[in-house]
Amino acid sequence: MIKVRREGDLYIINAGTDLSGNVIMWTTIYYYNGIVIDSGCINAASEIINAIESIGDVKAVLITHHHEDHVGAAPLFRDRGYKIYASYRTVEILRNPPVIPKYRQLVWGQPMPVEAEPINHKIRVGDLDIDVYNAPGHSPDHVIYKIRDMLFTGDLIGSLKPKIAYYGEDYLEILNTVENTVLKLDFSRILGGHITASREDIKGFTKYLIDLKNRIMDLYRQGKSIEEITNKLLSKVPEKVIMMETVSEGEWRRSYLIQSLLGLKHNK
Ligand SMILES: [Zn+2]
Repeated sequence: MIKVRREGDLYIINAGTDLSGNVIMWTTIYYYNGIVIDSGCINAASEIINAIESIGDVKAVLITHHHEDHVGAAPLFRDRGYKIYASYRTVEILRNPPVIPKYRQLVWGQPMPVEAEPINHKIRVGDLDIDVYNAPGHSPDHVIYKIRDMLFTGDLIGSLKPKIAYYGEDYLEILNTVENTVLKLDFSRILGGHITASREDIKGFTKYLIDLKNRIMDLYRQGKSIEEITNKLLSKVPEKVIMMETVSEGEWRRSYLIQSLLGLKHNK
């Protein structure tokens, strides 16, 4: 299922798997002057491509990172003759994408291999210069794209007040990327795979994370365990957070957020 809306020259396409008329999670694809940012998931691939081709030409598809809600439809774009671009690390993963757990296959669909072109720091598409920045934290291969005053940030920031983390996420690295890369750039807003936000919102996000980190550190120094810290700081959370913990086969947990802000490794 898809929903398309337009803001000037920017088209915002929300896509998700149609489960008897419902969508559990949406991912966002952007189209701006022939440039597609992230392809969306394979389960909605035909709808996404048809919608984009009805908007205009496709000159390039830029991928932020290798997750299935961002790359799943890329092979179909490639089949239509469109060029896919991604970071060197993402290109490697896309050649042989990992098999994802059942719940993600249901929500997004298993991505298939696709050949993409590696990009470094800059790419010119038509008359637009696009700057590319490494943006690790959500995943090691993650990059963000700057086009004019828009910053396309993929999943670097998935929520402005995160209460849960994915097992592959490193929140100290996210904080570092946001403070030392994102906030150093001149932009009016970020456009992500699941949220859009202003510069002020991003400053609020860093403040939230630093405050949370300091509270976690205090409790950890007092000898509290990860479980005790999680219960103390993250027990009152929206139902959606609990649902993610329950259905994600251990891939999403509140404790991962605590551990990663303490600089501790966490495994599934
Ligand atoms: Zn992701």
